[in-house]
Amino acid sequence: MNEIQLQPTTEISQFSSDDVLKQIALIQDIMKNAMKDNEHYGVIPGTAKPTLLKAGAEKLGLTFRLEPEYQIYEQFLEKNHYYCRVQCTLKHILTGQRWGDGVGSCSTMETKYKYRSQNRICPKCNQETIIQGKAEYGGGFLCWAKRGGCGAKFPDGDVEIVNQKIGRVENEDLADQYNTILKMAKKRAHVDAMLTATAASDIFTQDIEEMNTKVQKNSKSSKTKEQTTQQNPHDQEIKLTFEEKKTQAYQTLKAKNVPEKLFNTWNNNIKNATEKNITNMLKSITQLVQG
Ligand SMILES: [Zn+2]
Repeated sequence: MNEIQLQPTTEISQFSSDDVLKQIALIQDIMKNAMKDNEHYGVIPGTAKPTLLKAGAEKLGLTFRLEPEYQIYEQFLEKNHYYCRVQCTLKHILTGQRWGDGVGSCSTMETKYKYRSQNRICPKCNQETIIQGKAEYGGGFLCWAKRGGCGAKFPDGDVEIVNQKIGRVENEDLADQYNTILKMAKKRAHVDAMLTATAASDIFTQDIEEMNTKVQKNSKSSKTKEQTTQQNPHDQEIKLTFEEKKTQAYQTLKAKNVPEKLFNTWNNNIKNATEKNITNMLKSITQLVQG
């Protein structure tokens, strides 16, 4: 890791244009030499600026010696929903000067927290471990042991399987997410404050902040392992159908709250996907998500 040059910031009551340019150059230098793509910032094709992530904001805080202070406002809403708004004030550690403020909010009403993805449940062991069997292995459905299932097999069209409601359902365990919501609001406020205080919004944006967080999982233990399927594309037993892959790609994308334009582009890509390229597309979208 490169040594970070500290900008002398004491006793400056007003920045000259030269100071501002120097500061931007410093931030660019830090970005180039002390930050990593996908760790401190993220770049998404089709967006103008890289997005500053939590670790990047912390790095800028270290560089400029800025310490965050948080004020938290929380509200509990109907049906166990939770909202919080956080104000972040950045203070210069050496001088106590207030450099800037930022706000961020988050709530369980946001799509990615409000809903979860429901997969097919095994009628025998009640786990979300049902997959479609490969045609050459007799088709039908299988409760996949590698996902923690019981190994039971079901014929094609079994009503106990095919009549299940799958896809987006409301999340029943909202309370499990309160801490995540609070952290997210703090992070948003911190990044916002950092962009304002250091004038780094010339270089970074905050638009697509959650690109490095994972898709919302069913909070009931680790039954839902959507990623497993993608990590074992050559597994002998399983094969997602083309339609299932498209659905998965769509759900992964949907969970991200990316800007509308980018969402539409990817959504069109998914709609026009062929059997040949859907696997790679799914991988790209997953990488967008995981950062
Ligand atoms: Zn089972």
